[in-house]
Amino acid sequence: MIGTAPAPQIEPLGSQAEREERLEALRTAFTGLDTEYTLADGSTVSRTYLDSAASNLRLTVADDIVRRALRHYANTHSELHFGAHVTTHLYHRAHQIVNDFVDASDAYTSVFLGSGVTGGLNRMAQVLAERRPERDLVITTLMEHHANDLPHRKHVGEVVHVPLEKDPDGDAGRVDMTALRAAIQEHADRLNYVAVTAASNVTGVINPVHEVARLAHEAGALCVVDAAQSAAHLPLSVQGGDDEAIDVLCMSGHKIYAPGSPGVVVARKDLFEGLEPQAVGGGIVDRVETDRYEITDALPEREEAGTPNLPGAFRLATTLYLLGRIGMDLVEDDERELTQYALERFEAIDGLKIYGSHRLEVADRIGVITFNLDALPHGLVTAALNDYFGVAVRNECFCAQPFVRKLLGRTSTNGDATSDAACSPEAQPGMVRVSFGLYNTKADVDTAADALADIAARPDWYRSRYRPLRDGSGDWVHRNFDFEPARAFSLEKEVDAWLQSA
Ligand code: PLP
Repeated sequence: MIGTAPAPQIEPLGSQAEREERLEALRTAFTGLDTEYTLADGSTVSRTYLDSAASNLRLTVADDIVRRALRHYANTHSELHFGAHVTTHLYHRAHQIVNDFVDASDAYTSVFLGSGVTGGLNRMAQVLAERRPERDLVITTLMEHHANDLPHRKHVGEVVHVPLEKDPDGDAGRVDMTALRAAIQEHADRLNYVAVTAASNVTGVINPVHEVARLAHEAGALCVVDAAQSAAHLPLSVQGGDDEAIDVLCMSGHKIYAPGSPGVVVARKDLFEGLEPQAVGGGIVDRVETDRYEITDALPEREEAGTPNLPGAFRLATTLYLLGRIGMDLVEDDERELTQYALERFEAIDGLKIYGSHRLEVADRIGVITFNLDALPHGLVTAALNDYFGVAVRNECFCAQPFVRKLLGRTSTNGDATSDAACSPEAQPGMVRVSFGLYNTKADVDTAADALADIAARPDWYRSRYRPLRDGSGDWVHRNFDFEPARAFSLEKEVDAWLQSA
């Protein structure tokens, strides 16, 4: 749980037992769980998808509901034919559901833009820089994804990276609040905002975002939260205790079981007041003359020029409402149990080093576990998990190069992460990351853990099967097993097959 969340505005439906039953039913209601691949040993298996931190699978039930909504499809911004009226209403509801999901009052707007948090953070960095140009510094943490770092450098100015707490048996805890307080005091006169991730995409560790907000506010600064990793996994409220409200929160629909949906910014409305939108065009103007135009004051319209991604917005809203009706408290508990189980199983594998504490009571984390095997490179382990076991995980630096470098011990004598080539295109080092979604079970964890134990026990055998790509990625490829993506699926073949059967 992130801080002390008040009662969610989307009321869970039914008793605890009913909600648990529905969560169980939901587990199999995703597209892509039973996709089969032929492995390097010639066997065929359903994949084990453990890459949800990158993107999670799409809820079939939401697709079905959206397909029905699309029977009314028309463009928005008109209410004078039935379809346009229904669609405009649904689009409005979609924003309201997003606000409800994160407990945002009428003082907030939700804006749909881009395809994820990256678009939202870039836009909000511009907005906040323009709003307070005299404040040209942002504080963030060492654990941030590049999306919560580079936009601040580009649009605001200087970025100060606060270190992380050392946890008793790991390498990286949550943000070090003492160091954060000190940094805020030191830079108070220039500080525009503190930008912090709610949960790390590398260690899964959860940050106390409301406490961060309070510290930022004490210095007259704002608090921007990157909720890319937490939104689908933890209850989340923009409200907090006194003076702890989050000013800006960004989410990625494709990480909330709704690939194909837009990114979302939930932000205080007043932050946009009087600022020129980034994009202009249809749908955001009150009046246009050949030599001038007047932009509407209405939000989110002001920030959403052009025809929106309506099916994506409906899918996101349907998914959020569904999660809210089941209850994010249950979702969190469910993932916690699976994560604890996975940490225990992975911990028991000889030569496997987990980054961050393996005890949730020491360092609370979402279902993201990053590790390396002593004997083998991350690219080889990841390829072998896929090619021999059908287990889909991710490797390399997860767009968090300074943090991954630090965890790998690539530090200079003064303790700062060096700018050596550790995670550059020429480099080899990195990690393997397993991450969970609602569809994952203990059986998936067992499949991954058994596979890792086998790889760890027979490193020479696996090494002999692979060669390094040497393209700077740190990836390895099988010497004589070729996977042909176009044989797995071809849009052209699907179209031609339909045409021939029409
Ligand atoms: N922030 C975090 C913590 C992430 O994990 C990611 C993506 O992995 C992003 C931001 C960027 O999200 P997107 O690619 O959806 O813009």
